[in-house]
Amino acid sequence: MKKKIVILGSTGSIGENALRVATALPSWLKVIGIASRTSSGRLLEQAAEFKVKHIAVADPEASEAARSVLPRGTTLHSGPEGVEELAAMKEADLVLCAMVGMAGLKPVLSALSQGTDVAIATKEVLVAAGRMVMACAARHKARLLPVDSEHSAIFQCLEGKPASSIRRLILTASGGPFSHRRDLDFDKVTAAQALKHPRWNMGRKVSVDSATLMNKGLEIMEAHWLFGIPYDRIDVVIHPESIVHSLVEFVDGSVLAQLSPPDMRFAIQHALTWPERRDGGLPRLDLATLGSLNFSAPDPLRFPCLGLARKAAITGGTMPCVLNAANEIAVAEFLDGTIAFSGIWHTVEAVMNRHKSIPTPTLEQILYADNWARQEARRLCLTTFAKKKA
Ligand code: MG
Repeated sequence: MKKKIVILGSTGSIGENALRVATALPSWLKVIGIASRTSSGRLLEQAAEFKVKHIAVADPEASEAARSVLPRGTTLHSGPEGVEELAAMKEADLVLCAMVGMAGLKPVLSALSQGTDVAIATKEVLVAAGRMVMACAARHKARLLPVDSEHSAIFQCLEGKPASSIRRLILTASGGPFSHRRDLDFDKVTAAQALKHPRWNMGRKVSVDSATLMNKGLEIMEAHWLFGIPYDRIDVVIHPESIVHSLVEFVDGSVLAQLSPPDMRFAIQHALTWPERRDGGLPRLDLATLGSLNFSAPDPLRFPCLGLARKAAITGGTMPCVLNAANEIAVAEFLDGTIAFSGIWHTVEAVMNRHKSIPTPTLEQILYADNWARQEARRLCLTTFAKKKA
């Protein structure tokens, strides 16, 4: 029987790759709903190509634009509530959440509340509301399947073994474009340099997060919630080739790793076909051609985001949400040329210092903290941390 899938964020890089996976496995996967924030034109093309009857557009204006050219027989779900409706579709076997940032939170909760398994690519959802999301999944007997390559690797190494069998999780990080460039002045790095990731072809936000290593900081929190491992037992190692996607050290000292070429379809396909494995025609790994794999420790002084993320994680409560929100704004302001590359961590740290964490927040308190941190970060980017005009 075909697995029926809803893709939230189908026009982004994870979403487009998920559709490629669905194309490669037509006997196993059927896409029944797709959603995007603003790209209604591309969404309608995808709907036509994959014969998807239910689409959602989060942005009200883009949604109206789609309505005016909607083909017969296609149902349009409008606004953020429309995306939640799509996530809650009774027919869905699996919802893939690949929407950027906090926009994914409510749809993930609505899918889990239906008892529908969620393949989660939006790490921000777990960073900001990990406790709530995991509790919701447990309450409704729904599963969260990792799509992030590192977490997919850990999930595959564990194969259902309990947290008590784990001594340590080791997340690999490519290190981004700057970890080997000790000559660089982080006050002068341009957006184009930060976006040029050496291994992965990803969206703009996650590319910058990889360059600052904030992405790895967010992934530490993601791993904590997905696998129930305390923070002092989650390590990071730089691995520039991005072939080993992460490792698990078990209590007996054995270490298992998952390897594959750096193509995000591996992790996506694993989540979509789980618990089966299928041949989706993905590229093969040739170790002899690769020759060698390298590993080194990250440098916390050059990459302060990793330390800030650990600090937020250990503080807990609303602090990770605040870190994430401030980072999202700071990255956007860096890409717009308002602040320097180093301004990203200065902004995040300053916003965290202004926040008093609420220990066990409600959904409203999380959304409030998120909104507050965004305003605060925006204000600081335009004032204290604004680049001096040349
Ligand atoms: Mg990752």
